[in-house]
Amino acid sequence: MKLEDLVRVSAGVAATSGRLEKISRLADFLRQLEPDEVQIAIGFLTGWPRQGKLGVGWATLASVREQTPGRTATEDGELVAAEIAREVLALRDVDAGFELLKAVKGKQSGVERLRLLNELFARATLEEQQFLTGLVMGEVRQGALEGVLLEAVAKAAGLPATDVRRAAMMAGDLGVVAKAALGEGAAGLERYGLELFRPVQPMLADSASTLTEALTSAEGADIAAVSVEWKLDGARIQVHKQGDRVAVYTRNLNDVTVAVPEIVESVLSLAARELILDGETIALTPDGKPLPFQDTMHRFGRRLDVERLRAELPLSAFYFDVLLHDGESLVDTPLAERLQRLDQAVPERLRVPRLVTANADEAARFQSHALETGHEGVMVKSLAAPYAAGRRGSAWLKVKTARTLDLVVLAAEWGSGRRKGWLSNLHLGARDPAGGFVMLGKTFKGMTDEILRWQTTELLAREMSREGHIVYVRPELVVETAFNEVQRSSQYPGGVALRFARIKRYRPDRTALDADTIDAVRAFLP
Ligand code: AMP
Repeated sequence: MKLEDLVRVSAGVAATSGRLEKISRLADFLRQLEPDEVQIAIGFLTGWPRQGKLGVGWATLASVREQTPGRTATEDGELVAAEIAREVLALRDVDAGFELLKAVKGKQSGVERLRLLNELFARATLEEQQFLTGLVMGEVRQGALEGVLLEAVAKAAGLPATDVRRAAMMAGDLGVVAKAALGEGAAGLERYGLELFRPVQPMLADSASTLTEALTSAEGADIAAVSVEWKLDGARIQVHKQGDRVAVYTRNLNDVTVAVPEIVESVLSLAARELILDGETIALTPDGKPLPFQDTMHRFGRRLDVERLRAELPLSAFYFDVLLHDGESLVDTPLAERLQRLDQAVPERLRVPRLVTANADEAARFQSHALETGHEGVMVKSLAAPYAAGRRGSAWLKVKTARTLDLVVLAAEWGSGRRKGWLSNLHLGARDPAGGFVMLGKTFKGMTDEILRWQTTELLAREMSREGHIVYVRPELVVETAFNEVQRSSQYPGGVALRFARIKRYRPDRTALDADTIDAVRAFLP
């Protein structure tokens, strides 16, 4: 398959407003692919190449595009000649080019990347260059398109969309699943069931600004009760157990088993033979108050000194969900039943405090108790919802009473006076669900010297361009930002701005895709 065909389909789909029309166009395209092209095409269409991040900076790309202007139509028909002369780029060629780029290492890596990109871009038309630029920079990433593509895969393979969705959820990768579905049909999908010691993407939560809002909008509002749970500000863990083997994974599915022996021991002591538990681990003071998030994170990823750290900063684990219990997958089972199974398998001291209620006053009392104990807020969960791995939806709503938003750093300004030489004033943006980020305001408040030093290094590593004293960066760093109020503003593109924004902390455990959306920000408007 040629790259130009994919670029044409991608543009055509973007220009089509009907969902069904998009699906059928994509399905037609997918059917024409050779088996080894499926993963490549899915990666290109969703904006996540198979190789992941390619380590190419904006400056490199800009210089490539300057050196190798794309071939384009001119009035005297030069296009025809250029098209004939050009060796047409196939999807496989681009994929092979990305493999080479990904493998570049060492001192001369900048020069080598530039050479490889020049080679690739020299073969591309202007449209293809634009597409490749977006792809390499990660600008084409569209979560929305993934849903449409998933249905297109199902249609092209003649399989139910729910089966493809479940497999993609479990595999954490639509490309791999699409290849199996198109190549092997239903049998191919079966390989991607829930399996012990293969962690799945955790289910995620949307935000609600107040408890009342969360109680009324929990998905399936016709059901009487919801589960209201303490929201602990620790680190997400997924624990797998089979017999005397236990593994602990982080939110990003890294295996941290050796770093957290106390979690392993407590799960080993449970009677269940097989378990996959979802929960939160947190460092507590001896009297049970939560310690700052950084303390919990301090324990993760450590392989040395584990016993000393364990003595200094013991971790507690609190589980709130169960995905597998003694051979039975519970992923498609409603939360109400999963909670019953959790209660059977795990003693109360290892469970997140929870209240199942349909009474708003009771829920509010429960929330006050969580906050008084020093926790972040509560989660409100629909009892009818299955476990939607890797999905953010209204089946789980977080209600944080402290007003904070997870925003993305879009640019930073060089400081002056005492902050000379440091990147200080941050331009902050919220995620636009349609793609990209919307700037909400700037802040230089709440930064310690340590943060200033850290962010200067990290931001410069992500530099895309400069304009005067402003350094524009790749939108990757997520910062938890406290504020007093959201107000309407004609100054910023989203029509809203934050009042008295200040930095609480960076969230290295988040990617820009986890940042709060512009809709979540607008929900704070008075
Ligand atoms: P946030 O990190 O603000 O998007 O909130 C979601 C995170 O809260 C989850 O990924 C968990 O790590 C954490 N969390 C704490 N308590 C709970 C709970 N009871 N249920 C689900 N997630 C929880």
